[in-house]
Amino acid sequence: MRILFSKLFLIILLSTVITLSSSAQGVYPNVENQRSDSIDIVHTHLELELDIGARYLSGYADVTITPKIQFLKHVPLDLLQYDVDSIVGPTGNLSFNYDDTLLTIDLGLFYSITDTITLRIFYQGTPKNEGWGGFKFSGSFGYQVGAGFEAKPHNVGRYFYPCFDNFRERCTYSFGITVEAGNKVTCNGTEQSVQTLPGNKVRYEYAIDQTLPSYLVSVAAGPYHDIIFKVDGLADSIPVELFSSNSNTNPMRLSFQNLEDAVRIYESYFGEYAFDRIGYYSAPGMSGAMEHAGNIAYMSGAIDGTTDWETLMAHELSHHWWGNLATCLTPEDMWLNEGFASFCERLFLEHKYGWNRAREDFEQNKYDVLRFAHVNEEYHRAISGVPHEYTYGTHVYDKGAMVVQNLREFLGDSLFISTMTGFLQERRFDTMSSIGLQDYITQNTPLDASEFFPFWVFEGGFPDYVVDSVVTIPNGQEYEVQTFIQQKLNSAPEFYGKIPLEIAFISATNDTVILKDTVDGRLTMWNHILPFAPSLTIVNPNERLQFATTVDAFNIDRDGGVLAGNTFLGYSISNYTGQAMQPLRIEHHWAPPDDFRTMPERAIRISDSRYWKVIGSTDSMTVTAQGILQGTANGAFLDTTVLSFPGDSILLLYRESPADEWAEYSSYTLNHAGPGTKVAMLIISDLVEGEYAIGAYDAVLGNAESIIGSLKHGWNIIPNPAADSFIIDHPNAPLVKSIKVIDMTGQVVLKAFYQEGIPLQVGNISAGNYVVTLEFQDGTSSSKPIILQ
Ligand SMILES: [Zn+2]
Repeated sequence: MRILFSKLFLIILLSTVITLSSSAQGVYPNVENQRSDSIDIVHTHLELELDIGARYLSGYADVTITPKIQFLKHVPLDLLQYDVDSIVGPTGNLSFNYDDTLLTIDLGLFYSITDTITLRIFYQGTPKNEGWGGFKFSGSFGYQVGAGFEAKPHNVGRYFYPCFDNFRERCTYSFGITVEAGNKVTCNGTEQSVQTLPGNKVRYEYAIDQTLPSYLVSVAAGPYHDIIFKVDGLADSIPVELFSSNSNTNPMRLSFQNLEDAVRIYESYFGEYAFDRIGYYSAPGMSGAMEHAGNIAYMSGAIDGTTDWETLMAHELSHHWWGNLATCLTPEDMWLNEGFASFCERLFLEHKYGWNRAREDFEQNKYDVLRFAHVNEEYHRAISGVPHEYTYGTHVYDKGAMVVQNLREFLGDSLFISTMTGFLQERRFDTMSSIGLQDYITQNTPLDASEFFPFWVFEGGFPDYVVDSVVTIPNGQEYEVQTFIQQKLNSAPEFYGKIPLEIAFISATNDTVILKDTVDGRLTMWNHILPFAPSLTIVNPNERLQFATTVDAFNIDRDGGVLAGNTFLGYSISNYTGQAMQPLRIEHHWAPPDDFRTMPERAIRISDSRYWKVIGSTDSMTVTAQGILQGTANGAFLDTTVLSFPGDSILLLYRESPADEWAEYSSYTLNHAGPGTKVAMLIISDLVEGEYAIGAYDAVLGNAESIIGSLKHGWNIIPNPAADSFIIDHPNAPLVKSIKVIDMTGQVVLKAFYQEGIPLQVGNISAGNYVVTLEFQDGTSSSKPIILQ
């Protein structure tokens, strides 16, 4: 599902209480799923009359069940705010209890696992909705949207028919839907018959052989005009039916002109399309779309005769693998549905239009995540284990898409294809979980997925990779090149495991070699032989891996201006005298440029949230750059640490390379919006290659430990060295969320939630040097060494 303009909703911050959980990582208890332990729903038939004009539904549901336990006597079903007239079972009329939410049916007798029972539930009423999900009427159309952003549980089958509203229960369906003549009905599956009934009515019969969970069940009715064609899938041709709410069906044909490409792309990555047909219906009054199997609800505004919205088309189609074929077992693992579908939008763009088009989309997505995810959703979260209010949020969709792309890089495309296809086949018409996917990859590839999932899926934050230095040793006609790659962290508790990174090595005459190798831990050294001595290196030159760097890269061949894109730094070129294209790349690193440093003559603190790296010669041009510093909520707290206190004076710091010391840059101006304000305009009048960071001279303290630093970093381990236990003495205990003890190989040997003054027991950890890392509520962290005896 996709809601459009979702940020308007998500910007509203909701407060939550973080509770200690004793469950294993990635395993989420779920009350709704428990009913499926004792009862299996095997089939549901809905025989309903839908009076669109009167906004009224009446008829019955035949729910066929088999007990999974002995002595089953009661069947609880979800059904929201209908009048239940009667229920008929194998022994006749059955008694029931109904509180407008839960319908509990007394079977009268005990049934056992060899029995199959059909319960006919007569009900009627005005269908309700929760805003986005539920049953909606719009003009002369009526349709069910099976999932709700706010509803708990998120499945909202109960707004339409009696069911188990969980992600686990699946059954086959058939439909007999009666409407006033002149309307068409579309449901999951394929049309079986159309009958004209007395009283100017018409009954449509549909059936689907594939099993569905309640949120994917779909009925839509209204004066539709259908478009029927076939697309060539990899093995078979697949029937397609599009339901236009407009009698001119051309816009819908045109808006779906690349549907066949999308089908082929997803089949080639994830296996054959598994449902009877592909279907989309125009849903007037909807914003966004919902992936009901074979019968997608699609906002009518996106059916405009252009392909402008085709990533929405692609997103919903891709759910027929990720979500519809295998469904996340619990909402905490919604990234398996929505992160994959959001990734699939870019997979479609890549294979339809080339990597550069997909890259643009990935870059915009990454910018949004790095800038807003922790603001929208309190802190940089793990994508697995999100609470109910963020099930359909920025982390799940947008960071989820980044993580899937990284998983693809981790596996390589051919292993990604075989593993994802194999995993979906194994979980076919069943549930899936993060742990299950991790285990499947480990068991079916030479790779160990525990080098990926604990960092990217079960923890929040991001790594950032930079070349620290390159050492070149001539060796005959060739060069031995040692490349030192640093990993930096944004809000992540520990250094990430192995991930393949690309680095472009560029000679003085613009020869380029791109190498791909793994990086791991705080510092990685690569040893390679190159045909030249590199004068320039570019990390992740194609932006295939998704981490905490956003990039604006252009080729310059004349004077002109460029607006700030993903780097907060717009620039203009003058006095251009170059002969050929001059590449100019600006990287915005969402990570601290260094550990805390002091400048010799003054007390300076350096931004711990971002810095810029400019790559490319500016010898043949003058570059003037302009950016805004913001320490406000409006600016998503970009520069809170340096723009936090009145009396600070802001500086632009520069160094040619990471090996150099920072110094104040020579040609820039900073126009503070006023004393004590948290917004300033930065103008760099002569931008050159190198690194730029924002610093603040702390006029109040005049010493190296800033106020913000002491708020977070002025803490102690008592005692140190420690034998059996130690305590953390932190001056602002409420800031601290958790404690980790990490050994010298980067392994976390102990993890605990912080409780002020409570000793942490370490007697069972072997003696040696360790690092204690405190994770703060805002997702940042601070580390100090400890010796355990
Ligand atoms: Zn979706």
